[in-house]
Amino acid sequence: MVALKKLNKKGAWIYILNKKLKYYTKEIFKYFNIAIIGLGFITAIILIKYKPIYEVSISGEEVGYVQNKEAFVENLKQEVEQGKNVDTVDLEEKPEYELKFVDRNLETNEEEVASKIEENLVITYKYYEIALNDEELQKVDTIDEAEEVVNEIKEEIPDKDLDLTILEKFTQNEEELTTEDVEVAKADIQTKVTEIIEKQEEQERIDALPDINGIKLAVTPISGKITSRYGVSSSIRSSRHTGLDISAKKGTPIKVVADGTVTFAKYNGSYGNLVKVDHGNGVETWYAHTNKMYVKAGTEVKAGDVIAEVGSTGNSTGPHLHLEIRVNGKHINPQLYLYK
Ligand SMILES: [Zn+2]
Repeated sequence: MVALKKLNKKGAWIYILNKKLKYYTKEIFKYFNIAIIGLGFITAIILIKYKPIYEVSISGEEVGYVQNKEAFVENLKQEVEQGKNVDTVDLEEKPEYELKFVDRNLETNEEEVASKIEENLVITYKYYEIALNDEELQKVDTIDEAEEVVNEIKEEIPDKDLDLTILEKFTQNEEELTTEDVEVAKADIQTKVTEIIEKQEEQERIDALPDINGIKLAVTPISGKITSRYGVSSSIRSSRHTGLDISAKKGTPIKVVADGTVTFAKYNGSYGNLVKVDHGNGVETWYAHTNKMYVKAGTEVKAGDVIAEVGSTGNSTGPHLHLEIRVNGKHINPQLYLYK
C-alpha cells in the first residue's frame, strides 16, 4: 500500500509536467507560425518586385547578367570545345558571379556576357605537321589524316630512304592553323618526294662518274655529232687536235660541265669566241668557236648553266663546239670523261 501511494504521487507529478509541456509547445508553435507567415509575406513582396540573378564581372568590371551560372558556363565551354582543332580552353581572367536581387523587369544579356567571356578565352589548338627529312611541309587537322598521308606515300616509295615524320603541334595563335585538306597535303608532299628522289638519283649518277683531281664532270655541254676526235691530225690545223668537236646548230645553248669560275670569255684567234672555266684543283674546260657568250671573266657558274651558244667563229668550217679539258694546263682527251 505504501509503495503504491508513493507511485501515485510520482504519477501525479508526471501528469502535471506533461500538461505544462504541451501548453508551452503549443505557445511556441503559435509564435513560430506567425513568424513563418510573416517571412512568407516578406518573401512574397520581395519576389513580386525583385528576382534573383547572377551579375557577372570580369577583372572587376561588370559585364552583364545571367540567369543560371552553372548552365551558362557549361554551355559556353562546350560550345568552344567543340570548335575545330580546339585542345584546351582556359580563361585569362576568371569571371566572377554575384547573386543579386534585381528589378523583375531587368533582362539577362547572356549572349553579350558570353561574347565578353569569349574575348577572354585562351584557346590552345592542336594540329599535326608532316615533315620530310626534317623539313616541315604540311599541316593537317587530325592524327588520322596525318597517318593516312604518310602511309600512302610510304607505300608508293617503300625502298627509298625518306624520313617522313608526324609532329603533334600546339598553338594559341589561330593564324598558325593553316591546315590543309588531306588530298592537297598528299599531292604537295608527293611532289616534294619526287623532287628529292630525282635529286638523289642525280647525285648517285654524279657519284658514279669518274673524277679528275676530285672534280666530277657531271653535265654534257651539248648533244650532237662528234665530227673530230682528240689527237687527230687535220689539214686545217698545224698540230694535232687538242679537243673534241661536236657539231650542232648555230645558237644551240652550251652548258658548263661542272661548277666553277669563268676565267676568260673573249675572241681569241683561231679559237674564235672562247670561254674558259676554272673548276678548281687544276681542272679547266674550254668552249671554242661560240657564237654568243653569256658570261665574262669572274662569273661564278653552276654545273649545267648556259654559258654560250654554238657558233663558227675563229678557225672553223661550220657551227660546232670545240671542247677542251685541261689539267694543270695540259689538254687531255675529253672522251675519257664525256661523250664516251
Ligand atoms: Zn676542234
